[in-house]
Amino acid sequence: MSQPDMQAPETDNAAHRVVPAPLRPDSADVIIRSCDKVDYLVHKAVLSMASTVFEDMFSIPQPEDSPKSAKGLPIIDFSEDSRTLDIILRLCYPLDFMSPINIIDRLQSLLQAAQKYVLCDVMQRLANQMQLRTTAAQAPLRIYALANSFGLEEATRTAAKQMLHLKPADIKFVPELRLISAAAYHRLLEYHEECRRIASEVVTDAKVLDSLRSSAGLNRFVVKELHGPGCQSVLVKSSTNEFRMPAYIHRYLGAIARELEATPAVPIPLYRRHLNATHREAVKCQICRQYKWSDFLDLAIVLSQQVERSISQVRLIYEP
Ligand SMILES: [Zn+2]
Repeated sequence: MSQPDMQAPETDNAAHRVVPAPLRPDSADVIIRSCDKVDYLVHKAVLSMASTVFEDMFSIPQPEDSPKSAKGLPIIDFSEDSRTLDIILRLCYPLDFMSPINIIDRLQSLLQAAQKYVLCDVMQRLANQMQLRTTAAQAPLRIYALANSFGLEEATRTAAKQMLHLKPADIKFVPELRLISAAAYHRLLEYHEECRRIASEVVTDAKVLDSLRSSAGLNRFVVKELHGPGCQSVLVKSSTNEFRMPAYIHRYLGAIARELEATPAVPIPLYRRHLNATHREAVKCQICRQYKWSDFLDLAIVLSQQVERSISQVRLIYEP
């Protein structure tokens, strides 16, 4: 939808900016006035469908001396400012309107307005936007706190997942934390910690590594005890099985584990970056130098996929 012309087509006061209705502006039948004196020409029927609060408001007969526009349209004062009302009113219309991507600074007032006027569909549309990666990744802790305080469970979970890209030391205070309980914040930290534990377990726990042997990505690095001269191997022993892998692969897993212990959602380039040192060691061995670079890349992919699968099993305890 194109943005309506912000120039005033009608005004009863030169100080007021007038914004026409997003649909059929000529048939608007009421004016909503923001606290910063912007008049929105809108349709009672559309707003009534969006909210029973609006429906009740319009059903009350206006006193004779209530303010009216030059064309006789009733004017209703709202306590919200124009930056909030502009988005809220557009979201009430059955249009494919998407709030601006950078709405984080406005989100609290938008959610408050949606809650106050019982705009269920608008609330859902805001929640959907909060769940978009482009929004949630911008300020995951702010989104987590806002979503949690407005009872938006799925958006809360999405934001918690985005938090996994941060190291605990990088989690800084945001004012929105004042909106949530200590329990809700604690659940987030608990979730982060559990994801870090589970993620590092994928590359260190013998049982998990053993289960990954079904994939060529890891299994091709399983070696005999006597591999090549000067090529050490490490025994990986689970309760049910044991196998050996070159020491440099074991060191690679250790390096990845340290990354995952800090940030569970390690991006794939980080898995690759540690491969350079691993590859340099591998070519020193007559046998291991036969591994191709793509074999190492496959290993990185298998590990990153398993970490992602394991993290997805961890469930945030939602504290409304
Ligand atoms: Zn070797």
